[in-house]
Amino acid sequence: MGTTRADPPTWYHRQGGPMELGPPLEGSHQARIAIIGGGLAGLGTALSLAERGLGHEVMLLEAARIGHGASGRNGGMISAGFTRSLDDLAARVGRDHARQLFALSREGLELVRCRIRRHRIACAPVDGVVEVSWFDDADDLRAYVALLNDFGHPVEFWPRERVRAIWRSPRYHDAVFDPTGFHLDPLAFARGCAQAAQAAGVRLFEGSPVVRLHRQGGGFRLETPRGCVMAEQVVLAPGVYGPVPHPRLRRALLGVASYVVVTEPLGERLARVVGAPHAVFDDRMATGYYRPLADGRLLWGGRVSLFETHHPDRLARLMRRDLAQVYPQLADVRFEALWSGRMPFCRHKMPVVRRLEPGVWVATGFGGHGLNTTAMAGELVAAALVEGDDRWRAFDPFTLPPVFDGLGRLAAQLYYWGFMLHDWLRAGGATAWRMTKHR
Ligand SMILES: Cc1cc2nc3c(=O)[nH]c(=O)nc-3n(C[C@H](O)[C@H](O)[C@H](O)COP(=O)(O)OP(=O)(O)OC[C@H]3O[C@@H](n4cnc5c(N)ncnc54)[C@H](O)[C@@H]3O)c2cc1C
Repeated sequence: MGTTRADPPTWYHRQGGPMELGPPLEGSHQARIAIIGGGLAGLGTALSLAERGLGHEVMLLEAARIGHGASGRNGGMISAGFTRSLDDLAARVGRDHARQLFALSREGLELVRCRIRRHRIACAPVDGVVEVSWFDDADDLRAYVALLNDFGHPVEFWPRERVRAIWRSPRYHDAVFDPTGFHLDPLAFARGCAQAAQAAGVRLFEGSPVVRLHRQGGGFRLETPRGCVMAEQVVLAPGVYGPVPHPRLRRALLGVASYVVVTEPLGERLARVVGAPHAVFDDRMATGYYRPLADGRLLWGGRVSLFETHHPDRLARLMRRDLAQVYPQLADVRFEALWSGRMPFCRHKMPVVRRLEPGVWVATGFGGHGLNTTAMAGELVAAALVEGDDRWRAFDPFTLPPVFDGLGRLAAQLYYWGFMLHDWLRAGGATAWRMTKHR
């Protein structure tokens, strides 16, 4: 799960260039609160603490660089909700509780929007997220829109004719338009959050993996290769990109890989098939998603696998096949960047926001829906630490069940394959396949 030589630089890293936001930790330090992990979960917590006037009492330790993990390599699409679907969530915790959780996820979304404005973070936000349906099942989609509306979320049902007039794909049926969602450059956002936290007094150290965490005196001792911190409280937000410094967390997290490409500038060619600036994703389990970039490129992402593939030629072939399936018109475009990332998942596909033991907090498990939920989790943890607020208890049902590493990995891969088969059959794959055979 650690940092590997194979983590390739993303388009965002190439655009933003290298940026050093803090030195490696050296010598002994003290802090009231130490945060482990400089992804959006750690940064969100640091900013929420800073916004409560505690900046000078907070230290954040990042193993590599700010945004090195999933937070700096994701698709950049932000909307309310979680990785776990809303009806699935309601089935697990009941409708009222699901409503409460969904409201928290919306708060996370609004917090991100508000931070971009407040701290003037230049991360190119563009309004609108669209979920297009891969399946010819308008009733199902209308029921989903009704559920979201009932939860106070102002999404709209868009019929197939309207969808296909904008996104010229033969694959698409109806869609759900979410005017509250948007897309952004996630690395620029993460770096902006880090700078805002620093400006409020947070001490930030990069190149500082916490390799050991243990109790000492009334607090905790965190050790990095060249330094140590004594802290009263610790927040664990390591995702799946470093040495996970707590055994319960280590046993419960799965790193699920996903992939992104950025095309050459396509200009008019792109405008002819993608007729709106919004971000788009489809409703399959292994969703395909994309967003047009300001300079006429297309950022395309998708696929999930438990066993990360690093082979660039193979990956490019797979991503091209996915893109051509939606837009045959773009089958021959050139890819100018291609990378993978690992998302932190727990078995229940929900964020874990809780006190692990006295003085130790955890914010992780955001899966593929982390841009809003990391901000939400940071806010809940900070409110608990500073004000004794207990809204984090809404996440009580989502603990840290072990995944049994290799076995869990295999089980999860089989689960994904099962769902992909289900999606393929639902989309009429079997019929299409039989027709091809009989031609
Ligand atoms: C390819 C891809 C596409 C995605 N697309 C989207 C999307 O469009 N929308 C969306 O909402 N979500 C998306 N996600 C999910 C989202 O990116 C993640 O859920 C979120 O970024 C997780 O944030 P995090 O802070 O928990 O983890 P990370 O961003 O991985 O950060 C963890 C950090 O902790 C550091 N660390 C680890 N161990 C230690 C240690 N011992 N000491 C010090 N530091 C340590 C790591 O170096 C890392 O920087 C995507 C994810 C991927 C991979």
